[in-house]
Amino acid sequence: MGGGSESFMSSAAHPSNRQPRQPGLETRLIHAGLDHREQTGAVIPPIFATSTFESGNPGGFDYTRSGNPNFRNLDQVVAAVEGSRFATCFSSGVSAITAVVSTLKSGDLVLAEENVYGCTYRLFDRVFAKFGVEVRYADLADAANHPLIDQLKPALVWLESPTNPLLKVLDLAAICERARACGCPVLVDNTFASGALQRPIELGADLSLVSLTKYCNGHSDALGGAVCSNHGEWQEKMVFAQKALGLQPAPFDAWLIARGLKTLALRMQRHSDNALEVALFLEQQPGVRWVRHPFLPSHPQHQLARRQMSAGSGIVTADLGLDLPRSIAFLDRLEWFVRAESLGGVESLVCHPASMTHASVPREVREAVGITDGVVRFSVGIETVDDLLADISRGLEAAADA
Ligand SMILES: *Cc1c(COP(=O)(O)O)cnc(C)c1O
Repeated sequence: MGGGSESFMSSAAHPSNRQPRQPGLETRLIHAGLDHREQTGAVIPPIFATSTFESGNPGGFDYTRSGNPNFRNLDQVVAAVEGSRFATCFSSGVSAITAVVSTLKSGDLVLAEENVYGCTYRLFDRVFAKFGVEVRYADLADAANHPLIDQLKPALVWLESPTNPLLKVLDLAAICERARACGCPVLVDNTFASGALQRPIELGADLSLVSLTKYCNGHSDALGGAVCSNHGEWQEKMVFAQKALGLQPAPFDAWLIARGLKTLALRMQRHSDNALEVALFLEQQPGVRWVRHPFLPSHPQHQLARRQMSAGSGIVTADLGLDLPRSIAFLDRLEWFVRAESLGGVESLVCHPASMTHASVPREVREAVGITDGVVRFSVGIETVDDLLADISRGLEAAADA
């Protein structure tokens, strides 16, 4: 294995020492979860399209809602990437969130980062609030708010880093240490980085949650989610939620995601390299107000990002300083960046919150959180980076002419 890829992947929290070396990330991504081979010789697992299993089988399977060989295979790969003992897969990231929140009870308090993913906020606000789960939001990128953990002693601390779409970076190790001291479990939504770049469990989190739909699958052709942990009790709760709430994925989707994961390490390296180039390029363009990417030196938590992530991942958010018609002219001119929600696929996507995800939010409200008409979020794919830069240049020219 090349020394370059090894140093790219070893996390800052994991200094190399003289212990027997476990296989590298790329090796684990490709070889984890392949014990079916002993029975059939197939190099790649088949798709177990079956709802039920003969009782007394050696794998312990009974009914696909509570387990399937494709789920088990996917669980093992995800656990290998996240560096956790256990992982449980679900039908989407939102199903994974539902599984975790379903372990809470009426009257429990969650302390959450204020910039959590929109669907997480909606689940808390529109669904779990009805069942008496209370959520207190705070800017947890600001250490001045960390004492809230000791004061509130929440039933769960809900973190996300980097956040969407503003790419705030939270000090995961510091928050986890503080929460541990008062016995509060911590969950990190690791979707934007993936276990290839950031490993929350190694940084002290109890749970790492990923939407497998994004970078882990990476090909925008399936939905999935997973919850990872080192604790047997959490694992039991997740397996219970999977079968009791019906949150299991389809075997085919689990198979697709396990297939996508094989190239996660390579893809994350290219996504990160391309995104940093796009960010540096955008920063030099006249009229651009600000550009965010965790590995851009101008990022407010740049040093922290470098400590806790091995690369900056593929999202770049920028305020291009354009009014609404000019922003639309920019988007209309783009050829390689497809205008779509979601992120993390091999193809580049662009999202314009003011006309897409946040179109129904009143202007004053979205501008108060920094989402002006000129804010654009790029999910930078793994295409030839010069083509992406040329595309953005043409878009900016079209905006200037509009
Ligand atoms: C997409 C996403 C989710 C939800 O995942 P789905 O697979 O779409 O249900 C959760 N958290 C983050 C940060 C996401 O980007």
